[in-house]
Amino acid sequence: MTAKILDGTKIRDAIFGELKDEVAILESTGIRPGLAAVLVGENPASQLYVKSKIAACEQLGMGSGLITPAASASTAELLAIVEDLNRDNDTDGILIQLPLPAQVDTKRVLEAVDPAKDVDGFHPVNLGKLVSGRPGLVACTPAGCMEILRRNDIPIEGANAVVLGRSDIVGKPMALLLMHANATVTICHSKTRDLPDVLRRADIMVAAMGKAGFVQADWIKPGATVIDVGTNRVTDAAEAERLLRNFPARLEKFKAKGYALVGDVHPDAVNTAGAITPVPGGVGPMTITMLMSNTVKAARMRRAKAIPRTIPAGGPAGAGAR
Ligand code: NAP
Repeated sequence: MTAKILDGTKIRDAIFGELKDEVAILESTGIRPGLAAVLVGENPASQLYVKSKIAACEQLGMGSGLITPAASASTAELLAIVEDLNRDNDTDGILIQLPLPAQVDTKRVLEAVDPAKDVDGFHPVNLGKLVSGRPGLVACTPAGCMEILRRNDIPIEGANAVVLGRSDIVGKPMALLLMHANATVTICHSKTRDLPDVLRRADIMVAAMGKAGFVQADWIKPGATVIDVGTNRVTDAAEAERLLRNFPARLEKFKAKGYALVGDVHPDAVNTAGAITPVPGGVGPMTITMLMSNTVKAARMRRAKAIPRTIPAGGPAGAGAR
């Protein structure tokens, strides 16, 4: 194993420490950053995600609220809830836990969120700000990937960066953030020709496609930095064997638990890359971290414009468009 492991858990802990200080400063001026989560129905995975987000708020001394409409909720009911939260001065961030039930117009609900409280960075106003390089709230997973690069001193300026995947929540904002940081960016997707050749030119590769171990070790330029966003649950024994044969401890764990979490990059890439995020423990912990960071940032931008900052811009809550 040659690559440096880019540990997301460590970065989360560092950013949480910084955010705690910032929350305390805001509180001393009478502002307690607050996140409201809207969780529709009883999807167990969604319940778990929301629970950990609320626990993170508590850990940082932030306010939190949970609204739980029934699975049968209509678009109109959700729009009314969002409207109330938009008006509530103590709510700095509004989180609509996805997916919403099929009868709900998800786009309409997300677009009803006040852009100043859109801590997921999904609103077209915030996407537009990101495109034009203006400060705003940036989608959490790509913002977290940038923190991993920056806090490990990975050179971005002038680097050839390849983003594999073009979703609105990961691939597209990721490509924009890298471009604003002066990388030369290529975006790949399912219609890209000669993908291995394109990837082999990458100094920085961000894989966000949702296919376990798809990117082969020899598609990676030796020494490149690999950010693996993929989080895939592998349950098939033959697939686990193919992916983990060089990692006996992980294979044993798979046999004991019946599943393994594997990224979009083949685990053997650890012998080609110069630096790589592990799965789990790389990008995963950063998403919730940046949600917290965005909530503090939203509180500061909306309610505390006049209060001088103690943490330099570019620190956690400043990890915005650039
Ligand atoms: P998505 O919306 O499904 O997008 C997948 C992208 O990958 C699409 O742009 C698709 O291309 C591209 N793609 C699929 N198959 C391909 C192939 N064979 N060759 C080249 N490109 C291909 O996924 P997402 O929401 O961006 O998420 C991507 C992954 O990140 C998933 O594994 C997800 O679980 C994970 N994720 C993790 C976190 C975290 O916190 N760690 C957060 C968000 C997402 P087309 O556009 O041409 O279809």
